[in-house]
Amino acid sequence: MSETSVCPVCPHHCRLFEGSIGLCRARINRDGKIVGSNYGKLTSIALDPIEKKPLAFFHPGSMILSVGSYGCNLSCPFCQNYDIAAAGEQHFTDLRSVAPEKLLEIAKDTISEGNIGIAYTYNEALVGYEFVRDTAKLVHEAGMLNVLVTNGNACLPILEEILPYIDAMNIDLKCFTGEGYRKLGGDLDTVMDFIKASYQQSHVEITSLIVPGLNDSLDDMEKEAAWIASLDPDIPLHITRYFPRYKYREAPTDINLMKELKAVAGKYLNRVLLGNV
Ligand code: SF4
Repeated sequence: MSETSVCPVCPHHCRLFEGSIGLCRARINRDGKIVGSNYGKLTSIALDPIEKKPLAFFHPGSMILSVGSYGCNLSCPFCQNYDIAAAGEQHFTDLRSVAPEKLLEIAKDTISEGNIGIAYTYNEALVGYEFVRDTAKLVHEAGMLNVLVTNGNACLPILEEILPYIDAMNIDLKCFTGEGYRKLGGDLDTVMDFIKASYQQSHVEITSLIVPGLNDSLDDMEKEAAWIASLDPDIPLHITRYFPRYKYREAPTDINLMKELKAVAGKYLNRVLLGNV
């Protein structure tokens, strides 16, 4: 019987036999060690306005070279990027292999277009955290900046490996109940710990996509905003509007509800922004 190894990256802690792949579709047991199978394999690369991450209070008006691979450790039925997040390597015929050194060169080549660094985004970047770590180190050595867009559903030792190189993050807070997170395959306590460990060392903005039937309660928003304010009332909160996508068919979030949620959050937080409205 072959040996298994346990992945340390997220609370799923997948136990994998040699050659088998984790729930996120992006980590594999190779020679007894669990590594990112998506290292340097890009599905998307684009020069985006930083506001699109979304980051509203970090170098506004600048551009950032944004890269994504495949895989995610949550299973949100309303995923906005399901074509890359809910996919494994076998779903792609056009993956672009880019080493960290090459990616840095591309980032430098776009400085004249307003680029300030690299954003690790589109799919869940931390299922391939080794690539983020190796690239982010080089980016810092070159005097450029790193942005991480993440669901925050990752264990603290993994965060600690990359945090020294990350200048700004947008972290999803998908809902504020344990039950809601369980439905998505995540863990609320893990995400709260991740945010707590991040915000004093990196610029952090939080995003909550308001999905009807998951997190559209004013009560939950009140609790969420009060908790964020207990860390720092200046942490920006993006409350964004859901539109039907992937397996979720509910109507888009009501605009009046969005405004009410913003008003509730604004009782606690100084910087609340509505998105997709
Ligand atoms: S990162 Fe992927 S392989 Fe590792 S525990 Fe989480 S889902 Fe499993």
